[in-house]
Amino acid sequence: MRKNIIAGNWKMNKTREESESFVSDFIEGLSKISIDCEVVVCPPAIFIDQVVQGLKNANASVGAQDMWHTAPGAWTGEISGEMLSSSGVSYVILGHSERREHFGEDNDLVSQKVHKALSVGLKPIVCVGETLEEREGQDFQTLLKERVFGSLKGVSVEDAENIVIAYEPIWAIGTGLTATPEQAQEVHSWIRDFLTSLYGASVAQKISILYGGSVKPSNAAELIKKEDIDGALVGGASLKAADFVSIIQSA
Ligand code: PGA
Repeated sequence: MRKNIIAGNWKMNKTREESESFVSDFIEGLSKISIDCEVVVCPPAIFIDQVVQGLKNANASVGAQDMWHTAPGAWTGEISGEMLSSSGVSYVILGHSERREHFGEDNDLVSQKVHKALSVGLKPIVCVGETLEEREGQDFQTLLKERVFGSLKGVSVEDAENIVIAYEPIWAIGTGLTATPEQAQEVHSWIRDFLTSLYGASVAQKISILYGGSVKPSNAAELIKKEDIDGALVGGASLKAADFVSIIQSA
């Protein structure tokens, strides 16, 4: 029904040479395994062309790490949805916790980006998560619900099927701490319930919900085995082709 997705988020890493050698190692690695999931590589914007070219005959798509939500125009330094979709990009990560924290992105802005992405044919990977403090607070479930509802504000039932959600507990990102498969499954099932209340059960069942936060070859399979965990958004471990291929193999 819904496909598992393994997406790698390089963040602000790699030089052009490193990006090139990743692509060749990655293609070689992929050729040795059978792939049972959708694979997405999200390099920094400046390497998108290179990675799109490099992966054109591979069983993998390319995603961007962010985009701006307005029509093309006077927005110095920004990248439009049109630029991405005309460059062979299929996915775009939106509302990553690093964007929310360091660049002040809120649910409202994220929802505008989601609308724009959908309007140009990109599939948004919408990130939501909580800090440790928020997790320990009493309204953790309500808070996540607000984040999901706010980030998807106004998205129609028809469009909802093209959305991917990534649940990324902020305390698990880049820290080596991972939510246990049980902790992650619990939250993923809440998110599925939130989506059901927004779009109905049949659409909610089709939306892939990825887990992100210190996913690595040693823990990916256990997480992805859980009923509502439909793949992973991988940061650090997506930088090494061999590790990323091994995560893909476990999905
Ligand atoms: P990490 O990052 O795998 O390095 O924890 C995940 C993410 O931020 O998407």
